[in-house]
Amino acid sequence: MDDQSVTQSGGGPASGTHTPSPQEAAGQTRTTAEPGEVEARRKRLKADTIPAGTPQSQVWPLVRVCEALGLKLIAPEAAWPGYRKVVHLDGERSIYINPTNADVRSSPAEIAAWQKAGLGTVRPDNDRYLRVKLDAALLEDELVRGPESASRFEVDVDDMLRDLIGVQLTTISGRPNRILGVRPPVIVVATDRSPGGSPVPIADVARALEILNSEGSVEIIPDAIGYRSAFVGAVLKQLPDTRVDGTSPPRIVHDPHQDNDQDLPEDLTSQLPAPSPFQGDLDRPVTARQRREQRKLRSTLLAGRDEAPCALCGEIYPPRFLWASHIKRRSAATQDEARDLPHVAMLACIFGCDALFEDGYIAVQDGALVGTGHVDDESAIGRRVRALEGRHIGGWQQSARYFEWHHENVFRSSSPVI
Ligand SMILES: [Zn+2]
Repeated sequence: MDDQSVTQSGGGPASGTHTPSPQEAAGQTRTTAEPGEVEARRKRLKADTIPAGTPQSQVWPLVRVCEALGLKLIAPEAAWPGYRKVVHLDGERSIYINPTNADVRSSPAEIAAWQKAGLGTVRPDNDRYLRVKLDAALLEDELVRGPESASRFEVDVDDMLRDLIGVQLTTISGRPNRILGVRPPVIVVATDRSPGGSPVPIADVARALEILNSEGSVEIIPDAIGYRSAFVGAVLKQLPDTRVDGTSPPRIVHDPHQDNDQDLPEDLTSQLPAPSPFQGDLDRPVTARQRREQRKLRSTLLAGRDEAPCALCGEIYPPRFLWASHIKRRSAATQDEARDLPHVAMLACIFGCDALFEDGYIAVQDGALVGTGHVDDESAIGRRVRALEGRHIGGWQQSARYFEWHHENVFRSSSPVI
């Protein structure tokens, strides 16, 4: 049914050469007494057809959608294969252009995050696709006003902070800060002075992000963004295209024009965009070192088996479909815990379980799988979560304290954990 509506709105399948019929053209004229620039562009946009073979960098729907989602064309000078043909992007993502929309393929978690950020909608028949309408407000705005004035960071603050749990953050003055857990309405932050962590209102981070969004920069001083301004600055520094400017007071500045291409490493996989709070860390094989560690951890957990059950859904998979995940994030684990490999880590399948657990949509409580209430039951993620709920997790006792940590600090619990 979705496909039908797509075909209808898409102006005919596969032709890619939709020319408005006289009736359509007349209809368009009638609806706009005074066709302004927006309307004119919108019309051009609908009537535009781009011949296959055009360099990808000149196929504007391709370029605009990639820009909006922060993705890069692998070969901008290569020939575009045409409408409804797949173009591969970095990070194992891909995109194809239909006459009036684009479908971007990525991990379900990233697709969900994009939808949440208002960048498109999850295709109801397949949660690995984000559908971006080419005449959507976002693109229209960009076409009319230019990318300069497009909103900067449309990011869910809770999600961003959850992604940073355990990550070593550095304040502007160079002090280490670390988020121990996200427990709305606060986050628990460890510093030199309070290694056990102390609460910081999430609202402080949200307010600073709002200022950065509207002003393009934010002063990192308590007067402006609360008494934990140093920590808030350390978080904002994580956002892409930001830099620190000045010293009294220092400011975080959003600067999309800074040169990011200065030192592209040779290792292909490290050309993936650095995991940003936008994307979660689903594209985890970022460095060769991490890949090696993943392989080592996985073989430890497999213990010679050539297939094993996913610790969460229980389905049996060969190793390449299982990801060795830390139940308690490695960055948050003590040295002893980190060495407790068979219990602090588990094999979770890449068909959703790993990502759902990592992103806090599911957790394990007293040996049973629990799902967050913060997801629409009818959405693709919601259906997946509901299907897993209540499963008994074998062997959970040995990992109980790690599961508890995850439940307390990462899980999107329905009520605040105090
Ligand atoms: Zn699974």
